[in-house]
Amino acid sequence: MPVSPDVAVCDDCLAELFDPHDRRYRYPFINCTNCGPRFTIIRDIPYDRPMTTMAPFAMCSDCQAEYEDPADRRFHAQPNACPVCGPVLTLLASPRAKAAALDLAAPLSGDDALRQAQRLLDNGRIVAIKGLGGYHLACDAVNDTAVLTLRERKGRGNKPLAVMAADLDAVRRFAHVTPAEERLLTSRERPIVLLRKRAPADCDLRLSEHVAPGNLTVGVMLPYTPLHYLLLHDEGDAPPRVYVMTSGNLSEEPIVKDDDEALDRLASLADAFLLHNRAIHIHCDDSVVRVFRETALPIRRARGYAPFPVRLPQSLQPILAVGGELKNTFCLTNDRYAFLSQHIGDMENLETLHAFEAAVEHFARIFRVQPQTVAHDMHPAYLSTRWAESYASQHDLPRVPVQHHHAHIAGVMAEHGLGADEGVIGVALDGTGYGTDGTIWGGEILLATYGAFQRIGALRPDPLPGGDAAIRRPYRIALAHLWAAGIEWDEALPPLAACPPEERRILERQLETGLNTVPTSSMGRLFDAAASLAGVRQVVTYEAQAAMEFETLAADAALAPYDLTGAVRPVSPQSLQSGISEVQFEIDPRPLLRQLVQDALGGTAPGAISFRFHQAIAAIVRDACLAARDLCGLNVVALSGGVFQNVLLLGAVLDRLQESGFTTLTHLRIPANDGGLALGQALVAHYMTRDA
Ligand code: ZN
Ligand code: ZN
Ligand code: FE
Repeated sequence: MPVSPDVAVCDDCLAELFDPHDRRYRYPFINCTNCGPRFTIIRDIPYDRPMTTMAPFAMCSDCQAEYEDPADRRFHAQPNACPVCGPVLTLLASPRAKAAALDLAAPLSGDDALRQAQRLLDNGRIVAIKGLGGYHLACDAVNDTAVLTLRERKGRGNKPLAVMAADLDAVRRFAHVTPAEERLLTSRERPIVLLRKRAPADCDLRLSEHVAPGNLTVGVMLPYTPLHYLLLHDEGDAPPRVYVMTSGNLSEEPIVKDDDEALDRLASLADAFLLHNRAIHIHCDDSVVRVFRETALPIRRARGYAPFPVRLPQSLQPILAVGGELKNTFCLTNDRYAFLSQHIGDMENLETLHAFEAAVEHFARIFRVQPQTVAHDMHPAYLSTRWAESYASQHDLPRVPVQHHHAHIAGVMAEHGLGADEGVIGVALDGTGYGTDGTIWGGEILLATYGAFQRIGALRPDPLPGGDAAIRRPYRIALAHLWAAGIEWDEALPPLAACPPEERRILERQLETGLNTVPTSSMGRLFDAAASLAGVRQVVTYEAQAAMEFETLAADAALAPYDLTGAVRPVSPQSLQSGISEVQFEIDPRPLLRQLVQDALGGTAPGAISFRFHQAIAAIVRDACLAARDLCGLNVVALSGGVFQNVLLLGAVLDRLQESGFTTLTHLRIPANDGGLALGQALVAHYMTRDA
């Protein structure tokens, strides 16, 4: 392994950090061979100091002696440093702030900078803090005004913000922590872990409600650099510090990593900047995981994990798979290793594209791989697709478009080491993926090997009126589903109340004429519709918000399950004969929607509706897999797609499939969302070109 992920500061270094007699007492860049920055400071291999961003710092004689002593913990520790010879902190006022008001008429350095930054945070200010893989924007997580100000300045809508708490005891004051969650929180990877919030009455320490509004969970991490430990540390008996620590960027842009860039792009967001003079070579966000049945479910794979490879069952040619659009990551394969990039971001702007290009170049260099084939999504409008086209033509490489849901399923298969000719029933449920017929898919039952797939089952396509507008406004999706199901638009239903009359008239016209509507079999959109009908969420400010809130409030009310007779049924012979589709059976949401509407009109609590809906979808997935097994005789089901980040659904589906005797495969190290797409793309591209 030529390049290691970054590692959280170790216990030995921490002991020295807080030992007044140690020469590195309160030195924020303390590290050793067992801990510290790696991936984010390496410019090239071999991993030696001159190849890192520590190159400009000449070691003092004490550091050099440690570095050369085989018996020392810092023997060949490339980032080795101390207050005499290493990087230093600086605290500057932001151009937006009045320096005098911050006691920052002149920049501060070293421990003064750190203590003043801490004071500013404790007084409700927003400080941009240079970390391991980029800048964080930090503020006091308990302070409503501070959190709200940060949220507004960042243009964050209601999207949850992550927090960093001083220690586990502090975390327990506002969130529940299971043993598996504790292991993850304190692991050397130190990801953000999604924890269940404590009820307000049960909290010793109340975070601002603006941290994660509408969510029963909150993303929490523990300090992972010595700088974080110093910032969150307190000598007195004040309540432990909890800071919001969110990626330093404007909404959806990549995390900022360079000082000039930070001072420019974050100037309007932060009151002050806590910088240091060790450069970050490659950006790397915090990773995010959720615990499901005592194991980690990756949501975002970045710091601590990248660029650790996934070991493949077979040797692959060198392939560059460029991933999808949202939550982009890419994958570079070599022999039996798949090197997955850190989370890059939503590929919707030039900044993200530049970060992506820089990361591709970096991976090719540090892993010494020259791609021979380029794999990409089939969506013609994805920025990643267009980049792949131009890259392939520039380098004269073959290019393989891979169907989105096929890639999702191939990713799970690869994680479980399935062989070249093994097939699975793939259940790919997500928001959006381009189908081979040019429509939007997202509720798919595939028969899949790496090299090929057949779409044997799918959610019945419904019209999506106005594309992106519909995705931001779930009430439009709900109304479209009702229209398609022939269910009356009853004024008492929440989506009708949410839809302005003028918009309703336009919507009706769109649905009748089919103008500016796209057919979609998206399961994500069905969740949006259900959340809207249950009165949970009508307008969203971030991806999957409605579905997440709907999941969150589910509560078992011991109601009989919905009757799903006819929900999974063979498609009509006519449509088969006319060659419209290879789909053998259709998942019809109409029986489910009719009962959900009755519940909503009858005053059933949203939590009970949510619970019944989740159970119903799980039963439908089981029935679809049974139908697939009847057709093909396969008994292995692979589950993927962003919808499976919903642990209520995932659990219900796994239980039912296992009861029915299926072997189930779920993601282990890569996310079920589009952040895991690139691995599958690489596998599919390899076998498609091999078999061709
Ligand atoms: Zn250490
Ligand atoms: Zn030194
Ligand atoms: Fe997807």
